[in-house]
Amino acid sequence: MNILFVEDEERLGRTIKLALEAMGHQVTWVKLLSNARLTLGQDVFQLVVLDRNLPDGEGLSLCSDIQKISPAPHVLILSAKSEIHFRVEGLDAGADDYLAKPFSLEELQARVRSLNRRVGHLWERRPDQLRILSPKGWLDLTQQEYKFLDYLIAHEGQVISKERLLREVWGFSLLPKTRTIDFFITQLRKRLEDDPENPKHLVTIRGAGIKFHTK
Ligand code: CA
Repeated sequence: MNILFVEDEERLGRTIKLALEAMGHQVTWVKLLSNARLTLGQDVFQLVVLDRNLPDGEGLSLCSDIQKISPAPHVLILSAKSEIHFRVEGLDAGADDYLAKPFSLEELQARVRSLNRRVGHLWERRPDQLRILSPKGWLDLTQQEYKFLDYLIAHEGQVISKERLLREVWGFSLLPKTRTIDFFITQLRKRLEDDPENPKHLVTIRGAGIKFHTK
């Protein structure tokens, strides 16, 4: 998962960041609420690990901002405020889990694993709903768009010629209409690329075809 970690305590922060990275997650660590807000707008996160007591405010105030993001990242609160009413307050504010300080790293890792099981993974496909999870959130697709993207994801990293796509995705056997493909790619880039003019995922290899990158 891509994790945003908000914690102002230097030593604890370093330890937790390492523990999360050791699990294979990507961690962006910020120490202020203001930086957390900024970072949330710049990247897509699946989980926010959030301290409550921060130098520029109460961590919980970030929860309402997080809920506005689609799909909203899960939130795990870490807090020295351990009494029941603080936990209830945290869960009511939209947090998915609440861990009272001090806690063991094993427990933190177990909670993160549990949340990870609930998160959709990037490029997850839901064929029944014609939806694919892109870095910009769930894409609702037409049948043909779904088929197209599904095919590219399944052939990640391979250069696929437009003729092959027409044959295998559209079922055309004669007279390749490559402009059909160009149109699809342009439309999809607008929806899933941060910068459609400089695509990272749907990459055109000149004279050869299309190559799909998950990252
Ligand atoms: Ca703190």
